[in-house]
Amino acid sequence: MELFNPSDLWSSCLQEAENRLESTEFEAWLKDSIYEDINGTRLVIRFRNSFVAGHTKSRFGNMLEDIIRDISGRSELALQFIGNPAEPGPSVTEKLPSRNSSSSSESTFLRSNYTFEHFVVGPSNQLAHAGALAVSRDIGSTNYNPLFIYGGVGLGKTHLIQAIAHYLRQEGLNRTFRYISTELLVETFIRCVLRNDYTSFRKLFNGIDYFLMDDIQFLKGKVETQEAFFHRFNELTQQGKQIVLTSDRPPHELPGLPERLISRFQSGLVADIKPPEYETRLAILQLLVRDEELEVSLDVLDFIASSIRKNVRQLSGVIHRLAAMSRLTGCKVDMNLAQKEIRSSLGTITRRLTPGNIASIVAEGFDVSPSQLKGKQRKRSVLVPRQVAMSLIRELTSMSLMEIGSFFSGRDHSTVLNSIDRIKDLKEKDPELERKIEEIRRKLVSI
Ligand code: ADP
Ligand code: MG
Repeated sequence: MELFNPSDLWSSCLQEAENRLESTEFEAWLKDSIYEDINGTRLVIRFRNSFVAGHTKSRFGNMLEDIIRDISGRSELALQFIGNPAEPGPSVTEKLPSRNSSSSSESTFLRSNYTFEHFVVGPSNQLAHAGALAVSRDIGSTNYNPLFIYGGVGLGKTHLIQAIAHYLRQEGLNRTFRYISTELLVETFIRCVLRNDYTSFRKLFNGIDYFLMDDIQFLKGKVETQEAFFHRFNELTQQGKQIVLTSDRPPHELPGLPERLISRFQSGLVADIKPPEYETRLAILQLLVRDEELEVSLDVLDFIASSIRKNVRQLSGVIHRLAAMSRLTGCKVDMNLAQKEIRSSLGTITRRLTPGNIASIVAEGFDVSPSQLKGKQRKRSVLVPRQVAMSLIRELTSMSLMEIGSFFSGRDHSTVLNSIDRIKDLKEKDPELERKIEEIRRKLVSI
């Protein structure tokens, strides 16, 4: 462990875990764990009791070990989870981690940076964002009740719904809310059924202006909870209270939910969040590095934004890992480190499609030489193949515009962008060229 302070390593590991897990999971199991000792290559981590230690080990042990090995670069490291001897595990009847639901679901489960200020708005999430802001400002507007936000994993649903909660907590607003994950709602319901006492379930809905429920898809198959929820839902809307729900898919695609619930979900504003476009990804990265107080140059950010396209959580994961590495080892975040990180996070170590072999196959297809492609000549018989090579490299590799430009003898990124646009136009006008490019692409993807 010469290079690393094990206690810092565990803090970085927790940061990364927080980033990968649902916030409710992180809060329930990992948040108050502490680094205790190092035993050979084993980091000993203490939890509040042995039940939590055992559960964390079986559910997250492998992931946590992967993270510390990733961060430290030492594959021999392992983790040992222990409970607090002063507090033996809970008795069997209390299998769930104790959560004093009334106060904790309102505040401790909110991530401090999931606010509107920290949410980058772009075409992919504009409607959902506008809806969230509108319901925060104006309670119970019938048009937006419920507000139903849906979208794929890691696109900002939890962030947005928690941003509403943060907004409502502002001093002087005097609005009350309940933020709860659907899993916790189901757990609470089951606990009530077992005790034949529904007080704590009802309490979840009483005396609040806003009911914010995350990941409604987990109501699937929970028939009795659905039934109970349906009644509370109707009560709340009749009383003019605002309901906000998130889901990984639109209402009509929710499997195993009764029609009447689905049509309730559809009766307000249904807004989707799509994967962000390049500009939004870049803006999110800029926000993240500012938060981490990291110095990262624009071409490195451009490279990351070009490599990770589908998932914002992965984007923030990369930045958090780079920040952790840079803090632990004191090295700068440069293109080299970023490429290494992206490669390991995308799991694509072998990349046969290099710009060099794409360029030479394009050159062959157009009967010019690779050095002509990289050269300065602007006659059409060389210019068009060069532009084709640029667009194919953009399409088939994770290289950024700047990197592609520098591969072509130091051209700048706008030249690359123009070339790509030009080829798009030309292909529409010239079927012969389109066919030729298609042929080259086929050749490339089969190598
Ligand atoms: P979901 O609930 O849709 O799976 P999250 O809300 O947990 O996704 O978002 C994943 C991560 O991406 C979080 O760290 C969140 O802060 C970040 N994120 C998502 N969208 C944005 C955005 N538009 N601006 C800033 N951060 C975002
Ligand atoms: Mg979520």
